Amino acid sequence: METPPDVDELAPPNRTLMGPGPSPVHPRVLRAMSTPLVGHLDPSFLDIMDETQELLRYAFRTENQWTIPVSGTGSASMEAAIGNLVEPGDTMLVPTNGYFGGRMASMAERAGGDVVEVDAPWGEPLDPVDVQDAFDEHQPDVFGFVHAETSTGAKQTNVPELTDVAHSHDALVVADTVTSLGGVELKVDEWGIDVAYSGPQKCLSCPPGASPLTLNDDAMDKVLSREEPARSWYLDLSLLEGYWGEERAYHHTAPITNVYALREALRLVAEEGIEERWARHERVAGALKAGVEAMGLDLNPEDDYWLPSLNAVRVPDGVTDSDVIDFLLDEYDLEIAGGLGDLSGEIFRIGCMGHGAREKNVTFLVSALADALDEQGADVDVNAGPAAVRDAF
Ligand SMILES: *Cc1c(COP(=O)(O)O)cnc(C)c1O
Repeated sequence: METPPDVDELAPPNRTLMGPGPSPVHPRVLRAMSTPLVGHLDPSFLDIMDETQELLRYAFRTENQWTIPVSGTGSASMEAAIGNLVEPGDTMLVPTNGYFGGRMASMAERAGGDVVEVDAPWGEPLDPVDVQDAFDEHQPDVFGFVHAETSTGAKQTNVPELTDVAHSHDALVVADTVTSLGGVELKVDEWGIDVAYSGPQKCLSCPPGASPLTLNDDAMDKVLSREEPARSWYLDLSLLEGYWGEERAYHHTAPITNVYALREALRLVAEEGIEERWARHERVAGALKAGVEAMGLDLNPEDDYWLPSLNAVRVPDGVTDSDVIDFLLDEYDLEIAGGLGDLSGEIFRIGCMGHGAREKNVTFLVSALADALDEQGADVDVNAGPAAVRDAF
């Protein structure tokens, strides 16, 4: 059969990805993805699995034996965490300060759990006092929070205080670290996080497809002593244990190429050093922040909980966010995003993640954004932004 005439060779545009993810992929990761496939039980692949797990422990700052890439995107590792930990009749406490707390609630309900909420405005972290009050009132079994809220650009501070509250009430803590792993300080063991899930296409700069997950022994004990099996067969951790644990028996075919990619992305993390990597994100995103502020724009979250990996910049008066976003895509091949939910139309979301957290990208972004806003007639100082970025570097 001939190729249908209207289907041409794949030629996607060459975008600079500075939105909420996916982030730009490192060339070494792309190269790893073009290496030959082996079987998911090939002895050489078993070694690759071990190495990937070890590298994941390093990035998560954990000794957890049970640390794996889950097949699928960040939502798959999220559902593996919540769907296994929450049993029918359990109560899960979730945050309302961003989009992803809502997704946690949906997943907990589908797992048969009851959902209770702890509130904070979009763009602010949870206050440990409010978490304490919610625990006293509801006695939840599981508490979820979002470390790096990609919808608001706010970082959850005081994490050890939150986990202390939960543990003093015999609850387990699940952390969404999708936009922090590999980009923002995260210490799973030291901070007392029982379960953390993440995604590959944010600060790890890897294509979506195999998503990090780690559980400590307390969490795994709860999962392995469930009265009824998890509702998802595919994400049932007691079954996945057979493949990623000692036994190495078939459960489902691992996304081999995505595991190659994740391994290479994590090798880059280890080569750079996790702390150096956090510092780089802070320095490079700091220049971005200085640039947009010098232009006359404001970041949405307060400085105390600014999230370097996702910069939420307030849309200036008289400007329609989508016009700016479209202009950047059309004129500069540059992707940024608008706000979601409560912040829809209010903010631009500018990612500074992994291979995108580089001087070159930020220099390009700030001058392109100045041009786009000027084009829209916004009252911005077009030259001050790029100058501030130059000074910062
Ligand atoms: C991106 C993201 C997710 C979901 O990941 P997908 O890869 O889109 O499934 C979950 N939580 C946060 C905070 C995210 O940024």
